[in-house]
Amino acid sequence: MGYLARKDPEIKGVILLDCDVDAPNLALLFKSKSDIVNKDLYTTLKANFLEEKCVHCKKCIDEHYCEFNALYWNDEQQIPIIDYLSCEGCGACAYLCPEKAFLIEAVKSGVIKSYTTINDIPLIYGETILGSTTSGKTVTECKNFAEEVNKSISAQLEVIDGPPGIGCPVIATISGLNYVIAMVEPTPSALHDMIRVIEVTNQFKIPFSIIVNKADLESEFQEKFKQYIIEKNYNVIGRIPFDFSVARAISNAQPVVEYAPNSKASIAIKEIYKNIKNIIQKI
Ligand code: SF4
Ligand code: SF4
Repeated sequence: MGYLARKDPEIKGVILLDCDVDAPNLALLFKSKSDIVNKDLYTTLKANFLEEKCVHCKKCIDEHYCEFNALYWNDEQQIPIIDYLSCEGCGACAYLCPEKAFLIEAVKSGVIKSYTTINDIPLIYGETILGSTTSGKTVTECKNFAEEVNKSISAQLEVIDGPPGIGCPVIATISGLNYVIAMVEPTPSALHDMIRVIEVTNQFKIPFSIIVNKADLESEFQEKFKQYIIEKNYNVIGRIPFDFSVARAISNAQPVVEYAPNSKASIAIKEIYKNIKNIIQKI
């Protein structure tokens, strides 16, 4: 959609934002023509052990200070060891240790990357570091970063690729948007996820519509899926058929509408773009 918007003379500027910070992939499709700018994020708290303060009483282990099982005992050194991947930075150990031998500190949790693509679209995406616990905050930081970028270019449209599921990153992505488009495939798990995303979207009172991907998949579930969408009266703004061109475009690191503009999928996507543009104009 961002690629088509960039080519559209009626849209005055577009920014692409990949908020799937646990597995960003838009950068795979949009090659860079500028240097990548990195901004480190420190949104995760972790415990740090201050060995010089420890009196080896072992209370932290015997009294089970850590509900997340992130502390274990080193018999040889007679000190607690912190498992950093398990530590949630809750602060209980720092609060309970009589010698204040734990300190809670902000650690590097991720990075925001931005560059201009070869299609002249600013692309911003976040990457979460393994073990950090704040992908929702990373999403918020990415959105704030995009706002800053947009102050200098005044793009009319921000297209956000959101994360799957309904967790913190999804909530952080949806919050404050003008419109949400839920991509769904006619499978039981995808429908289940879509229903939950729509529940979240409704909580924010944000209008939404649906795009059905791989819409022509043959399965026993198809009929049930179609029936459900009709019963709920959801606004379906397009159906993208299963098309190997999509996989080939991804392998070539290009949007399918650029790689195979006359493919079944591209024709459907262009039709969807027209529908989205109508919606944007109304908004
Ligand atoms: S960290 Fe604190 S509670 Fe744990 S052994 Fe050392 S002094 Fe005792
Ligand atoms: S900060 Fe919380 S999660 Fe981390 S080690 Fe201390 S008690 Fe465990």
